[in-house]
Amino acid sequence: MNVNLFSQKQKAESTRIQLELLYRVSRELASTLDLTTVLQRVLALSIDTVGADSGSIIILDDAGKPVDSAIIYKDQIIDHSMQQVQAILEQGLAGWVVRNCKATLVSDTSTDERWLQSPNDGKTARVAKSVIAVPILAREKLVGMATLSHSKPNSLTEEHLNLFQAIADQASMAVLNARLYNESQRQARVMTALAKSAGAMTSSIQLDSVLNNILNQIQEALQVEAVTLALVNVKNKELAYRAIISKNFSVNPEIFKERIPLGRGIIGQVAKRGKGIVIPDASKDSRIDNQLNFHPQFVPKAIACVPIRVRGDVIGVLEAINPQGGSFGSDALTVLKGISNFAGSSIQNAQLFEDLQIAHNRYHDLFENDINPIIISNYAGDILEINRQTIIMSQFSPNTLLGMTIDELHEVNWEEARKVFDTLNKGEPRSYESILLTKSGDTPPILVNVQSVQIAGEKRLQWLFQDITESKKLDQLRDDLTSMIYHDLRSPLANVISSLDMLEAMLPVEDKQEVQIFLDIATRSTKRIQRLTKSLLDINRLEAGQPITEQKAVSPLDIAHKAYQALLPVAHNKEQEVFIIMPKDIPLVYVDEDMIERVLINLLQNAIKYTPPNGKIEIGAQQENEQVRIYVKDTGPGIAPQAQDTIFNKFTRLNSKDGTKGIGLGLAFCRLAVEGHGGRIWVDNNADVGSVFSFTLPIANSA
Ligand code: ADP
Repeated sequence: MNVNLFSQKQKAESTRIQLELLYRVSRELASTLDLTTVLQRVLALSIDTVGADSGSIIILDDAGKPVDSAIIYKDQIIDHSMQQVQAILEQGLAGWVVRNCKATLVSDTSTDERWLQSPNDGKTARVAKSVIAVPILAREKLVGMATLSHSKPNSLTEEHLNLFQAIADQASMAVLNARLYNESQRQARVMTALAKSAGAMTSSIQLDSVLNNILNQIQEALQVEAVTLALVNVKNKELAYRAIISKNFSVNPEIFKERIPLGRGIIGQVAKRGKGIVIPDASKDSRIDNQLNFHPQFVPKAIACVPIRVRGDVIGVLEAINPQGGSFGSDALTVLKGISNFAGSSIQNAQLFEDLQIAHNRYHDLFENDINPIIISNYAGDILEINRQTIIMSQFSPNTLLGMTIDELHEVNWEEARKVFDTLNKGEPRSYESILLTKSGDTPPILVNVQSVQIAGEKRLQWLFQDITESKKLDQLRDDLTSMIYHDLRSPLANVISSLDMLEAMLPVEDKQEVQIFLDIATRSTKRIQRLTKSLLDINRLEAGQPITEQKAVSPLDIAHKAYQALLPVAHNKEQEVFIIMPKDIPLVYVDEDMIERVLINLLQNAIKYTPPNGKIEIGAQQENEQVRIYVKDTGPGIAPQAQDTIFNKFTRLNSKDGTKGIGLGLAFCRLAVEGHGGRIWVDNNADVGSVFSFTLPIANSA
């Protein structure tokens, strides 16, 4: 065989091997997308084909930083850290290739300064090897570099270099793809972590479990030793830890009592500035607050911390401490920020819910422990909720009560109830007196306060029953006592008046002149006391619903005259004029004469009292249909429109500071007396000055 032929054959053989290798490389590359696996296979194939015994591939990111690598040393895949790779890149032959973007052949490493002694080769003497190194270029961009070495110098040649470069070129696109895939995988991991957190957070509304979910998600996503969550107290400008989870220690509970001013320590600064930070080495960072100790054995080494925001405001801080590999990956802050975005609104919702629960419990306690029975019913009256006191007072069991309607529990006056519902619909509360219908048959008197309330969006009625047994007893006692006193005053007063009459009759005419005036005063005053006592007794009787029995036909003019006579001296003293203006044919009225006389005297007395000296007062009467209207017109201050109804209530006095004396019973008596006769009493203001008090009485023949 001639030499030429041999060399041609050799060439053809080498091209065949080369093609076969490239084919195998491309097949390998197509079979997986996992970058590390791709690298290891390409490297193994290259070592095999070239006949080298060791090699390495380093893949760089866009910034030139190593992101993945494979090292094979004498058939062994070597575990190594990125820091080691970084060192090789900075100092060794690899660095030269990367910086120059050129392939190179080193026939004898012992004579080439670019060759960095590997720890695997021992440290004593420089070892002589042969090495080839090539850049990996994809679309004219450097994505990494690869090296092959042979333990004997000069065993790797230019031809090997070309072959290796061909492999590297072949692999470059696959590496690029795998790198992109890796990046997308990383992003997918981040997205999954975020999606999982969002799901976990919204699955609960209890604050504690929301917080725990958040912390667990962070721990899982970032693989850290501990995660903390602190919340901001805006008013006091401070933070307090609210939740801490850790794999290795149980947290010192004292830490939750710490108040951390905004600005202090890592979390204080993050909360104040509102920006996330990563601290790679906590031991060298002056911002670490050493007083915040979660556990004596816990030492923070690396920290990532982000603010939690709700609508722009920082409400808290999330802190991840001590990642598994020692340092945080480039996406730690992204993950943490992402989770904190979800966390903000979940925490706020849960906090609102917690506040709501506290308020709910407080109101429930108030409801449950109220000293009065409180019942919630629907508008149909079905009892829906009861408190403890309802059970105690009604003696029914809770189950029985919940099957009852509100009218089975207290007596309802349906006419009154209709008014109640009218006012309730206007949103005002209402109260009325009734009796409780208890299981034992007792019927204690109660004051019912009912109002419309909204419970869980439904319109409900809230009934509050106040036991008024005691106050009723007291009222009764007081009424009994007053009637007794007035009753017992009646006969001595009558005695005084008849004695005064006798005295006047028995006096010799010549002495009369001097004594008459005193006798008059004594008689008038005593009669006034008599009228007052009678009226007070009447109030009690009329309020109790007793009918007026001693009615007869009386002339309104007579009544007016008697009242006029009784009060003329008082009007004289104030230099007031009193007129009586009445039609001659005014019909007789059918009344208890003494009582109606006292009504008119009361009105006249008030007119004199409230009209200034020299004023005018008019007593009049008119027929109006089947009734006679009697009135007293004065020139006093008049009655404000808003008081025109209330002055007829017991103990109501206007302008009590105007110097006039009274107890506010006069008009109350007038109303009871007039209404007892089937009439009506009211007051109008005069067009120019003063007031007109009017009342109606039944005409005698019609009655
Ligand atoms: P008293 O006169 O004892 O206060 P009344 O029941 O007779 O009680 O009157 C109630 C209130 O009505 C009085 O306090 C007074 O303010 C007002 N009032 C009654 N009559 C008149 C009147 N003619 N002019 C002005 N105010 C009056």
